[in-house]
Amino acid sequence: MTPAHQSIGEARRAELAAGLSATRARIGAACAAAGRDPADVTLIVVTKFFPASDIAHLVALGVTDIGENRDQEAGAKVAELPGPVARDVRVHFIGQLQTNKARSVARYADAVHSVDRGRLVTALDKAVGAALDAGERTAYLDVLLQVDLEEGERASRGGVPPAQAADLAERVAGVERLRLRGVMAVAPPGLSEDGTRAAFDRLAGVSRQVREVVPDADLVSAGMSGDLELAVQQGATHLRVGSAILGSRPTPR
Ligand SMILES: *Cc1c(COP(=O)(O)O)cnc(C)c1O
Repeated sequence: MTPAHQSIGEARRAELAAGLSATRARIGAACAAAGRDPADVTLIVVTKFFPASDIAHLVALGVTDIGENRDQEAGAKVAELPGPVARDVRVHFIGQLQTNKARSVARYADAVHSVDRGRLVTALDKAVGAALDAGERTAYLDVLLQVDLEEGERASRGGVPPAQAADLAERVAGVERLRLRGVMAVAPPGLSEDGTRAAFDRLAGVSRQVREVVPDADLVSAGMSGDLELAVQQGATHLRVGSAILGSRPTPR
């Protein structure tokens, strides 16, 4: 590496370190205010749109979990990671997933947060079986049910309607290679603070219903750069934070 490259890499690492420590401070303050132990809240750094080199920096800075939302991009980036980085990081797939991408995601994902329909449950179970047979993975797949908190108010970004979450949990419980771990949601955009809090509270209610089906499916994935404090307040165990750490993305989706 030339000195110029080295300094660019060092500058980016310093930038990421600053974003990370500011975000960890926010999480710490939110936990203190809510009387929660920060050890019970996992930070997933959402690296979509940013290069594999950023993932390597983040892992060097102590990040253990990253999130990606598009299969093609995620698969290519994970393949680019140096072996020790790939081994040390858990990859969470958090985007809408088509059944024909299940086989690809099963190669590299440790968890899928966006399971929202029965057909996807069947496809992922089969895909994990094929990936295990091919020696591409060694463990079953952790999944979370994505819950639709907007309920058809606009073009949905996916998610099971809250009233159908328990049935979908039964579907996951009925297949062999998926392990139901909890629920996930994105707060509807444009809400007031109270509205967002109420949305996360509805998610907590769905989490209780899902735990009646699978008692240890107690993870709640909620909260992003703009609303992580509210998510912590309402019991989130996993936060998915991108722009507050990596900077703004080139094109919002
Ligand atoms: C992009 C994304 C995030 C991160 O959003 P930021 O506002 O950048 O923190 C979280 N969750 C999902 C599902 C995403 O697609």
